[in-house]
Amino acid sequence: MTTGGAYDGARPRVPATELRSHAVTSQLWDVDRQRVWHPYTGIDTWEAGPCPVVITGAEGVWLHTAHDGALLDAVGSWWVSALGHRHPRVSAALHAQLDQMHHVFFAGALHEPGVLLAQRLVAVAPPGLARVFYSDNGSTALEVALRAAFQFHAQNGAPARQTFVSFQGAYHGDTIGTVSIGGIARFHALYQPLLFRSEQLPAPSDDQGNNQEATSLAALDELLARSGNTVAAVVVEPLIQGAAGMRMHSPAWLAAVAARVKAAGALLIVDEVFTGFGRTGTLFASEQAELRPDFLCLSKGLSGGSLPFAATVTTDAIYDGFRGDASRTFFYGHSYCGNPLGCAAALAVLDAFAHDGILEGLPIRIQRMADHLAQIQELPGVACVRQTGLVGAIQLGAHGAYEAPDGWAVAAAARPLGVLLRPLGNVVVLAPALTISMDELDFLMDTTRAAIAQAMAAQSAPRSFDPSLPIDGHT
Ligand SMILES: *Cc1c(COP(=O)(O)O)cnc(C)c1O
Repeated sequence: MTTGGAYDGARPRVPATELRSHAVTSQLWDVDRQRVWHPYTGIDTWEAGPCPVVITGAEGVWLHTAHDGALLDAVGSWWVSALGHRHPRVSAALHAQLDQMHHVFFAGALHEPGVLLAQRLVAVAPPGLARVFYSDNGSTALEVALRAAFQFHAQNGAPARQTFVSFQGAYHGDTIGTVSIGGIARFHALYQPLLFRSEQLPAPSDDQGNNQEATSLAALDELLARSGNTVAAVVVEPLIQGAAGMRMHSPAWLAAVAARVKAAGALLIVDEVFTGFGRTGTLFASEQAELRPDFLCLSKGLSGGSLPFAATVTTDAIYDGFRGDASRTFFYGHSYCGNPLGCAAALAVLDAFAHDGILEGLPIRIQRMADHLAQIQELPGVACVRQTGLVGAIQLGAHGAYEAPDGWAVAAAARPLGVLLRPLGNVVVLAPALTISMDELDFLMDTTRAAIAQAMAAQSAPRSFDPSLPIDGHT
């Protein structure tokens, strides 16, 4: 299992892919257009075509496609593929688990992968965390935390603590509960009548990437002074607000928020669904601000990008708040809680971090990405670049809406060059697998630079924009 290794100047080994006949894939696409509803996808644009990327396989950072050859997966398939596709440890663990059991219930029963994973997660999680609650995805990892925080206060002498506080631009998932604490108007505004009330504070970084940490902290101070004893919890994406357009802030801001939340007697919910598992350079972003969360929410990289799986890790103090008679039970659970396949995959991910030098291999990659970004910053049409860990963001002009075309124009230019990008509006996002080789990273960054140059040159000429990818913008 190799992850590190010095740069040797060679081009990456681009896997050969088996091209499929257009007749077969166009039939697939016809059925797709008749029967499938894709996430975060404008359906008229989708149906109008052209034929989207048809993925036939995946390995490491590469997607094998029917007609586009091998494409480098620049965003780890919506940020989940932290260790690359079909990581050998994850594949082996899944094969072994398949022969034992696929799924069994986790209420009134236990199984070895579920118990071992809880023990291993607590061992690597920030100090103070001691209990693991399993669910299926990032949104449910947050739902668990919201519900448990609310119930904890209700039955432990603080029933007035009912308000959740989050930040503008926040993205914590797509269920109604997590949308209630979401701060992206494009995704969330319509549902306002359905949502529970929450307080939203200015984000530490505005939508152009400008630092407004002091403003944000002052607003938090004001809120806590005014009504601190009604706050149930403050919810935060540590170091990077992902879906907002990879807006970044300092560990100092995060530490300051945590200190204020603790002093006010409220709970701290840290959403590491995206930042967890090495993305920011440390196993958890929380480490960089020495956070002691009351809830740590994990998904995405937790299963190495293999299965929908999530964990909410909390403290014994919270857990103990549910002792007593039956009315104090946490009546919450999904059918697939503690799924043994997900547990096995997550154990393999922890093995990879323990034995394969993944974190140790990050500084050289992070530096290389920074060197490339410094060059990209000089291109015409680039407003600014940002980076935290192995997440790069290139902002083209004003932030604009998710439908803003510039990022999509860059993605359209990158695809024939061998890179599959998925922007957030005008922000080109780079979040490749942490196991990317130095050659592959150079290829990704050189290609992105070429695609930006090409797309921006085309834009300065008069044109009518015809995106070759559907208009949308999830995480
Ligand atoms: C993706 C994401 C979620 C939601 O996870 P899903 O698995 O898509 O429900 C929540 N929080 C953050 C920070 C995310 O990036």
